[in-house]
Amino acid sequence: MINHFAEDDLVAVLTTQPLDRTLDYRAPEGGCALGAFVQVPLGPRQVLGVVWGPGRGDFDLAKIRPVTRVLNVAPMRDEMRDFLTRAGAYTLTPLPAMLRLATRAPGLTDPPSMRVVLRLGDGEPARMTEARTRVLDALAESGDAAVTMRELCEAAGTSSSVVKGLIKAGAVREETAPRDQPFARLDAARAGKPLTADQTAAAAALGRGIEAGAYGTTLLRGVTGSGKTEVYLEAVAACLAKGRQALVLLPEIALTAGFLTRVEARFGARPAEWHHGVTMTERRRIWKMVGQGGAELVVGARSALFLPFRDLGLIVVDEEHDSSYKQEEGVHYNARDMAVLRASLTGAQVVLASATPSLESWANAEAGKYQRLDLESRFGGAVLPQMHAIDMRHEALEAGRWISPTLRNAVNDRLQKGEQALLFLNRRGYAPVTICRACGEKIGCEQCDAAMVEHRFLKRLVCHQCGESRPMPEICPSCQAEGRLAPVGPGVERLTEEAAEVFPEARIATLSSDLFGTARALKERIEAIADGGADLIIGTQLVAKGHNFPLLTLVGVIDADLGLQGADLRAAERSFQLMRQVSGRAGRADRPGTALMQTHQPDHPVIRAILGGKEEEFWQAEADSRRSIGMPPFGRLAGLVLSGPEASLPMRIGADLARNDAALRAIGAQVFGPAPAPIARVRGRHRVRLLVKAPKGAPIQEAIARWLGPLTLPKDVRLSVDIDPQSFL
Ligand code: ADP
Ligand code: ZN
Repeated sequence: MINHFAEDDLVAVLTTQPLDRTLDYRAPEGGCALGAFVQVPLGPRQVLGVVWGPGRGDFDLAKIRPVTRVLNVAPMRDEMRDFLTRAGAYTLTPLPAMLRLATRAPGLTDPPSMRVVLRLGDGEPARMTEARTRVLDALAESGDAAVTMRELCEAAGTSSSVVKGLIKAGAVREETAPRDQPFARLDAARAGKPLTADQTAAAAALGRGIEAGAYGTTLLRGVTGSGKTEVYLEAVAACLAKGRQALVLLPEIALTAGFLTRVEARFGARPAEWHHGVTMTERRRIWKMVGQGGAELVVGARSALFLPFRDLGLIVVDEEHDSSYKQEEGVHYNARDMAVLRASLTGAQVVLASATPSLESWANAEAGKYQRLDLESRFGGAVLPQMHAIDMRHEALEAGRWISPTLRNAVNDRLQKGEQALLFLNRRGYAPVTICRACGEKIGCEQCDAAMVEHRFLKRLVCHQCGESRPMPEICPSCQAEGRLAPVGPGVERLTEEAAEVFPEARIATLSSDLFGTARALKERIEAIADGGADLIIGTQLVAKGHNFPLLTLVGVIDADLGLQGADLRAAERSFQLMRQVSGRAGRADRPGTALMQTHQPDHPVIRAILGGKEEEFWQAEADSRRSIGMPPFGRLAGLVLSGPEASLPMRIGADLARNDAALRAIGAQVFGPAPAPIARVRGRHRVRLLVKAPKGAPIQEAIARWLGPLTLPKDVRLSVDIDPQSFL
């Protein structure tokens, strides 16, 4: 394969524009590399693209225009082109959309932006003061790193006038330097915490993979608090020591803050942080530095997987079972699976860490495709909480109340001992449904087929589908009756209200993602609570994800049956994971914990598996049941959603597709539907679902591509295809 094109050579350029092919251009003066990021004319505009290969030569040669400019960033590597191509083929996504994922940093086409930085000069100031000494010391300490005026003043604790005096005297000199600077080096040689025998063995096994420098995936399973993070940080250290880059994916932005502090303590500097809360300029800096090796470790959300790493040696997917790794909009991809794909192309190691792995990963380990490492005990001898059911059929509870007498006694007991308790309810807002007691009307969203959820702190009704909100009405929108609207069912806000009555002395903290404006505010609140700033925590699934509450000894699950409702393929698995994770919050450090689950069906197999703590048995049973019906991971699924302003047209198109299914039948696949989606209308669009089910190993993507090939959609109908769907709504 040619990897450099001379001036005037024909090159094929893939742009981020929605075209179904590459376009030919002439290489600019000085030529360009294969993979070069370029700016090219397209009609009247200039667009971003990548030199994808030699020109196709199927376009009028006289009309071919030259590449405008080669961008001053590292060319896309072969393996990245390969990754985008394969990830696109897997998810049935056109390449331009894949390229957009890989260039999600603003200003890439801007000329490099410069700024003034300060360095030590040769001059001697006539007079030294304490402040001047501090400035010169701070500069000396910063070494090669470029320091701005603001940073220098901050480091030296002086005003800018002191620095300006030194510039005048020649002791400090000004220089222009590119704004995008490398990240501080991480010190991989620093010793981590001394590991336990279990942890040492796991770290050594991961170390061998890193040492081999080849692809491999490991499932690192261990209960919450067993030290999985400690162990994979050892793998990060080994990877950095080899001079390769590492990526740690986390499911929740709120978790990154605590993790960054931990990395800093371990390696002496902060890593690059990538998620949608990071500023635009910082994103551009990370994107560029990752490509030229100026960022060794990136900690981020799923989209960090598409950064142009120069030499990626390790990808950690923490809480690998978390459903937020699946992107459900635009390009439907699962970052966990794409991490494995990317690693296999770059000879990198993948670590999938979880206390409660996905059935997919569990089965892959079982089949020998992944190495499996288990950390059996919690660090420091802390034990997993005891778990018990509270049988709600035998509890005396008034209507509109959710805390059973048994649970109340248990909480009171903790409060008296000065310990913390947590009440878990995975429902944001005050009440999931609001009805009118006069006419029976249930208040729904005008745009969606969903109930409006009362958020009493905000005094608004909010649609959890589209985010639309309006002030809480005084009168029924349907019958105009006044003061007859009533909440039905509990949300965390309503539970907080009840708890305040039942436990009047307790300091209560409610944790729900919608109650915090920023990730920082949330982090600070969580830290304050962990330090003992509250007695009773009331939370949604936000609290289930990896936060440490060392004083917590009781977890009460308000409705353990909640996740078991609905026909979701993964209902059992999700419920199991969530309950295990939530109860894992209790009894860290030296205090044993208890988890109490309020349930109406204590004999349900999933509830029994959770209580019994027999995880292998649960997975085995779940695997058997999925295998028997050919469901993932023992069969393959693809979900299709057709949507339009009217329900009839998507339905008709869906029915046509279902009738003409020869391409699917050819690989032994079946199609189900069309049927109105469980949420039949979102943002004013009617949604119709089809489900394709194929045997494991069948080429489902190719078959679907052939099946959909002849389809042309009317202008206002949209189709989205979701390979390996997680959501069936
Ligand atoms: P996990 O990721 O499995 O939930 P962590 O790595 O976060 O577990 O460990 C839980 C807690 O125990 C953390 O506060 C961690 O610092 C501490 N810890 C784990 N292993 C060790 C060790 N070998 N030495 C000291 N502290 C440890
Ligand atoms: Zn809505």
